Amino acid sequence: MTLEDDAREYHRRIPPGKVEIATTKPTNTQRDLSLAYSPGVATPCRDIAENPEQAYRNTVKGNLVGVVSNGSAVLGLGDIGAQASKPVMEGKGVLFKRFADIDVFDIELDLDDPDTFTQAVAAMEPTFGGINLEDIKAPECFEIESDLSERMDIPVFHDDQHGTAIISGAALQNAADIVGKNLSDLHVTFAGAGAAATATARFYVSLGIPRENITMCDIDGILSEARAEAGDLNEFTEPFACGEDDGELEDAMEGADVFVGLSVGGIVSQEMVRTMADDPIIFAMANPDPEITYEDAKDARDDTVIMATGRSDYPNQVNNVLGFPFIFRGALDVRATEINEEMKLAAADALADLAREDVPDAVVKAYGDEPLQFGPDYLIPKPLDQRVLYEVTPAVARAAIESGAARTERDLDAYREELEA
Ligand code: NAP
Ligand code: MG
Repeated sequence: MTLEDDAREYHRRIPPGKVEIATTKPTNTQRDLSLAYSPGVATPCRDIAENPEQAYRNTVKGNLVGVVSNGSAVLGLGDIGAQASKPVMEGKGVLFKRFADIDVFDIELDLDDPDTFTQAVAAMEPTFGGINLEDIKAPECFEIESDLSERMDIPVFHDDQHGTAIISGAALQNAADIVGKNLSDLHVTFAGAGAAATATARFYVSLGIPRENITMCDIDGILSEARAEAGDLNEFTEPFACGEDDGELEDAMEGADVFVGLSVGGIVSQEMVRTMADDPIIFAMANPDPEITYEDAKDARDDTVIMATGRSDYPNQVNNVLGFPFIFRGALDVRATEINEEMKLAAADALADLAREDVPDAVVKAYGDEPLQFGPDYLIPKPLDQRVLYEVTPAVARAAIESGAARTERDLDAYREELEA
């Protein structure tokens, strides 16, 4: 059986798809039914009408995330439309449930116009505790997310942007430490100036990389002042236009400490890696094929090459599942109004710190007994490591409380114990 055969069989097995609705209250007697629905249900309705916060006590709102897409940038498949994106959105729901026990309604909207899309999502606020935007193409995704964040009083998070930023940001902190460089000294070159790359560059600035040390390239080469002046950039890429002359990616990689690839596979050569600074850090995250393969990057030079990819078959997989389930869990549990920069930084720090701890045997076994010890080939925890839930989630909740985004207080020690139970 090929992976394709397996995937078809997996999805088509009866019942089709990957999710169902389950009820959580008894429905055995007439009395039960008159509580679940009319006439008993009128009581919580009146309570919520009087005080909207009661929605969190009387409905599933506080544990329900809307995974919303228009199918315009699905995986590496491109604009395949809303209907064809549904297996991905159901899959995202599976991951939310599996890793953080969060329930998801997947919502596929056949809407290309950003304003109409935004209006539709904003109108769904009563249903959800949070909104995970998914697989929406750039540049529309920026406008949609920022408009919705402004309009909605619940967290709105475009995972394709911030997930990658947070997880790779955790890896970058540890990689810099391993090669003995300060974040504030690093020169970082990006291949790609799309959704993931611009969000990641913004997050690296929050982490302490000077904006002027970042050089960003798209398919036409370096984003330069000249291109900005020519009107070639948008409001999200323009902040990264650099004063230097125009040039190609290979010019931008010369002397760089860090390469961040969020573009397309195979565009970086060993020769380009050889021109980078000592002990280069290479995060080649194009999926499914990285900008340069793990083997080629490692073999390009004799000093330490720290390498991460988006792939599960090599060390240091930058996998968003290390982030979104726990970030939403922490946000929902303090009824956060947003997922702000402080909460994202807290998630990255918690992941980076956890990678420095000894790894439990059960986790090592789950990954085929490869040695997992903090170092160039283990910068970030593994997704199946249970401790990510106990470490990242309370860190996010704490940051929400301290930054004023939380609507409820929580005893964080007790919360952590609850998560571990
Ligand atoms: P996107 O918004 O379409 O951005 C793609 C960017 O790559 C565009 O700026 C494009 O430039 C640029 N590009 C294309 N060919 C290039 C080349 N030859 N040289 C330099 N830049 C080039 O897509 P995205 O959502 O940001 O995703 C980008 C890549 O990152 C995908 O491969 C995706 O799978 C990967 N990704 C990985 C992870 C992960 O590992 N966790 C997470 C998110 C994304 P133009 O605008 O000029 O066309
Ligand atoms: Mg996605």
